[in-house]
Amino acid sequence: MRAQQVVYAEQGYPMSPDRPTTLHIVGGGIGGLALAAALTRRGWPVQVYEAAVSYRAVGGGHWLYANALSALHRIDPTIASDLVALGMPFEGFWFENLRGVRLLREPTTHYTPSPDLAPIVVRRWDIIDRLAARVPADRLHFGKRLSRVEGSSLIFEDGTTVVAEVIVAADGIHSIVRRDRLGGQKPWFSGQTGLWGIADATLPGEAARHFTELWGNGIRMGFTAVRGGAVYWFLVVRDATPPREPEALKAYILDQARPFPEALIEAVRRTPADRIHTNPLWDMPPIRRWWAPGVVAIGDAVHACTPNLGQGGCQALEDAAVLADALDRYATFEEAFAAYQTARWWRANGVTRFARWLGILAQMRGPMRWFRDALVWSTPARVVRPVLRWVMAPGWTKSSTP
Ligand SMILES: Cc1cc2nc3c(=O)[nH]c(=O)nc-3n(C[C@H](O)[C@H](O)[C@H](O)COP(=O)(O)OP(=O)(O)OC[C@H]3O[C@@H](n4cnc5c(N)ncnc54)[C@H](O)[C@@H]3O)c2cc1C
Repeated sequence: MRAQQVVYAEQGYPMSPDRPTTLHIVGGGIGGLALAAALTRRGWPVQVYEAAVSYRAVGGGHWLYANALSALHRIDPTIASDLVALGMPFEGFWFENLRGVRLLREPTTHYTPSPDLAPIVVRRWDIIDRLAARVPADRLHFGKRLSRVEGSSLIFEDGTTVVAEVIVAADGIHSIVRRDRLGGQKPWFSGQTGLWGIADATLPGEAARHFTELWGNGIRMGFTAVRGGAVYWFLVVRDATPPREPEALKAYILDQARPFPEALIEAVRRTPADRIHTNPLWDMPPIRRWWAPGVVAIGDAVHACTPNLGQGGCQALEDAAVLADALDRYATFEEAFAAYQTARWWRANGVTRFARWLGILAQMRGPMRWFRDALVWSTPARVVRPVLRWVMAPGWTKSSTP
């Protein structure tokens, strides 16, 4: 049986109309769950292997733009409408420096092709919860940390092995499947570290209706209201290693946040230390081939981007929508994988490059930050708008599917 599967993998798996072939998805994050939900709805058998023992630790907020909402409509329209109901729309993006100079104020109406695709911020937990609810519970396996892949065998840390006909790498930026099956390209560290949390707090006046980012001297903070009387805040530091212990981490953030407005510092104070998260910010240099016979990669596993555009998860959702459609359309897995990569490669890598560039700009320090401020302040809307429209454009998942 196993030998036969390997032969198939080399020749290209045929896809029969009654879909007997199970897709084994490694990683039950946004990308893996979205693909599992899309395929389940289309009648494909899937198995999802998630390293975490549960989703309880998922925290923070997450922006969903028109491109992500449009992808969700294709994955399952009920997920899109659930998240819109749970999400908080906002009226604009405000970027300022710490002297109160407005660098950019951009209304979200320019990025809202229809009311149901208006940008929203949701709790990350809500995305995971809504997606997971569309995957049969017996297909979702927790505590299954992949340790290595040998051919078509998935070998887990708990000592179990699964022989997989088709493997989907959705195991994030440090993907084991990518390492063992797709050439092992290493991620790039931005030198920046993100820290974030959600506080039971409210924002004063207009701030409650906008997403605001304040750029300082090699440091920045951002915040936005989320539904339920809460504020999602984040801090990005450069060339620093914040402590891991929760109370020490919170004290570190409060210290770093001193140059920022009191309302923001108060939001950090009101966040329980054990609900503050931190992550080094990485991205993925372009990977030439996203698939090999019997294996394909999606999301951060293949094109992770820094969170500077709020697009990593949105792009993973685009991947899931495009790959699910391609699997429905083509006769073999390999044709579907190739079509998926063709549809997604330039766009996903373009967004990743742009996010990297924006992060470098936002985190400038010393005299370079005056250059940064002047550049952003003087860039006209007619230049900014087409670029941001391209990033958030919902048409990509519709028109670029081959
Ligand atoms: C601070 C921060 C803020 C962000 N904000 C936004 C935002 O507002 N909007 C946006 O679109 N994106 C945002 N992103 C990016 C977004 O979170 C990611 O791009 C997105 O989660 C990628 O989804 P994924 O499923 O590909 O990978 P992941 O979310 O990383 O999921 C991978 C999953 O695989 C599991 N896994 C890992 N290794 C193994 C293994 N060996 N075996 C089994 N399972 C494994 C992990 O536990 C995880 O559940 C943000 C990122 C950060 C760090």
